[in-house]
Amino acid sequence: MAARRHGAGTNQEAVRRHNLGTLLAHVHHDGQLSRAELTARMGLNRSTIGALVGELVELGLVDETAPSERRSGRHGAGRPSLDVRPDAEAVYVIAIDIGVKALQVACVGLGGEVLQRASGRTPTSHSPAAVATAAVRLVRQIVAKAPPGATLLAVSVGVPGVVRESDGVVRFAPNLGWHDVPLQQLLCERMAGSVPLHVANDADLGVLAEHTRGAAVGYDNVVFLMGDVGLGGGVIVDGHPLHGVGGYAGELGHLMVNSRGRTCRCGSVGCWETEVCSPAVARALRLDDIELEPMVERLKQVVRPSAALRDVGRYLGMGLGSVVNVLNPEVIVLGGIFRALYPAVRQDTLEALTAVALEAPREQVKVVVPQLAGDAVLVGAAERAFEALLADPAGALATACRQAVASVAAPQRVAAPVTVPA
Ligand SMILES: [Zn+2]
Repeated sequence: MAARRHGAGTNQEAVRRHNLGTLLAHVHHDGQLSRAELTARMGLNRSTIGALVGELVELGLVDETAPSERRSGRHGAGRPSLDVRPDAEAVYVIAIDIGVKALQVACVGLGGEVLQRASGRTPTSHSPAAVATAAVRLVRQIVAKAPPGATLLAVSVGVPGVVRESDGVVRFAPNLGWHDVPLQQLLCERMAGSVPLHVANDADLGVLAEHTRGAAVGYDNVVFLMGDVGLGGGVIVDGHPLHGVGGYAGELGHLMVNSRGRTCRCGSVGCWETEVCSPAVARALRLDDIELEPMVERLKQVVRPSAALRDVGRYLGMGLGSVVNVLNPEVIVLGGIFRALYPAVRQDTLEALTAVALEAPREQVKVVVPQLAGDAVLVGAAERAFEALLADPAGALATACRQAVASVAAPQRVAAPVTVPA
């Protein structure tokens, strides 16, 4: 799903809730802002902005602080007004990235700051119950270190598969061997709480993250490709996420690129992901292990790519050419293993892209690596988890406070200062 777009506000009392959420979204996404900037962005008068800020301060979601130097200089003589900034430790969400090889979990505060993170290996059995248990174990670790007194709003999960978001059932995750796995239910049972939990395709969360906070900010036509053991795609068209009738659109990894290629885990032959993902890269690099981050580091050391690796680069470009022809994106963000593969084989990839893509859409596209590096799925999951708060700050907060936060993972609140990873 695409980022919430910062629209202009309105001064009608009937949409005060909307304005409150819009103002909170501005500071959540862009950090510290002056009242004057908020007034200009939202098209509301100063007194309305003042009232909205006051309400958010009362809710404990933002605080006011002396303006940063950059801004205070502009005001010249006279006392500058205070800036508004999100309170990073008032509320938080839990983001979970379930990979075929690795699990990542983060506690993310309002404003998008990662307050805590934990990671582990995905159980090799890929048993859904074992994966859910391992993920919840990591959640417990970070909830125990969450800021004292902070309110947990929601949990959001990214998974490399086709997800029915209405009930969090993973319809098909070929590289986990999952068919119709009730992941939302499995996780909720283990958390034993009533905090909202949402499951989505990992690349759909990746494109949300890069569109909101990364390399695709300001673009309305975006493709995010998540390369790991398989290849997931997240697509934004004209500013809106491409869902398809069941929410399953964007399975770009199963574009056919080699009719005489390998059999894919989906049962088809020659899918794009069989030629460009970590097993293919491992074959080209003669590696046994296909864990994502070590392979990314290995690819970063490539100075002159081998013929085999250049072939992988050409297949990457061939698929990109088809994506360009079908979707006419302004920017394609290459996440996961591609963020290191692409720089290593850029010339071969771009030549193949050029050979396949029609001239007109090719002229308009740029291919980039994520600004969020390996965190795109986690950051996107956090953004998804904040959506209810940004739609209705007071309502979402009241609901969250009613929920038995302590029961989520039975956290022991710690008095020690929270360590914020760099
Ligand atoms: Zn396939």
